[in-house]
Amino acid sequence: MTIIQDLGEYRSNHLWMKREDLLPFSFGGNKARKAELFFRKIDEGDYDCVVTYGSGSSNHCRVVANECFRRGMKCFIICPEEASETTFNSIITGLFGVEVTTVPVSDVHDTIEATLSGLREAGRKPFFIEGGGHGNTGTEAYIRCYEEIAEQEKQLGVSFDYIFHASGTGTTQAGLVCGQLLKGDEKTTVGISIARKLPRGRDVVIDSIRSYLPEGFPEDEIQRNTVFIDDYTSGYGKSDGRVKEAILFALRNYGIPLDETYTGKAFMGMGEYIKKNGISGKNILFLHTGGTPLFFDALVKGGELSTL
Ligand SMILES: *Cc1c(COP(=O)(O)O)cnc(C)c1O
Repeated sequence: MTIIQDLGEYRSNHLWMKREDLLPFSFGGNKARKAELFFRKIDEGDYDCVVTYGSGSSNHCRVVANECFRRGMKCFIICPEEASETTFNSIITGLFGVEVTTVPVSDVHDTIEATLSGLREAGRKPFFIEGGGHGNTGTEAYIRCYEEIAEQEKQLGVSFDYIFHASGTGTTQAGLVCGQLLKGDEKTTVGISIARKLPRGRDVVIDSIRSYLPEGFPEDEIQRNTVFIDDYTSGYGKSDGRVKEAILFALRNYGIPLDETYTGKAFMGMGEYIKKNGISGKNILFLHTGGTPLFFDALVKGGELSTL
């Protein structure tokens, strides 16, 4: 269980933050919560190595590689050449004895297939984890997170009107929305896209929701509860002055690190959404999805300290 912190008044609303970044493994974050469930499956099954993919700045690869190392399992990572930059995450990932194969993004799919079949032919038993921990197991992890939130609402004596968070592969959002729909709660979860545009970004979230929920679940409920905003995507890993401002704001006022790829964008997007839609007097929960090593990348971009 991660804490929900009361941050007081924010733009005429009451702001709370759920600190997924403080999950107690490998710098935490939503990838740590998803990995816990993936590795439960791995531990229960008959596997001796893991194959996954992700960029040089991937939080997912860091956590998966760390989980592998502590089990004495080999971890194979397929990395797109176009996003293979050296970052704090790639440096940490490199400490876990991983085998990284860097290929052009157009070859990622075939390379994954070739790696899996090569391992199987050699008598190995690989477990494949989709990039970002996408899929029903990742969705399930965030249904449990939603249940945690519902429990904490009771303890805190508060009911959140909105949940805001950074949306990438859409699995975190799919889990939160599924959790809400299964409980029949009234709440608006706003996924702030960090890269994908509409309509595809929202379609992917809806596909993940559908693939988890029982067949025949009311379509209008799914549609009405999937709010996906693509107004603040400056490209994966890229940010702008407003994101930097949001990062400095959260650090100076709350002592909480955000990053340029995910949480800084989501926090900035939340502020803009509140303003644009004239939201006031509501209880708002910001889900801090982690990515702490990326905060340090933001500090030292281009080798310069404090480019924020
Ligand atoms: C991966 C990631 C996200 C996006 O989560 P999805 O489930 O892929 O949508 C958000 N924030 C951080 C810090 C992440 O690492």
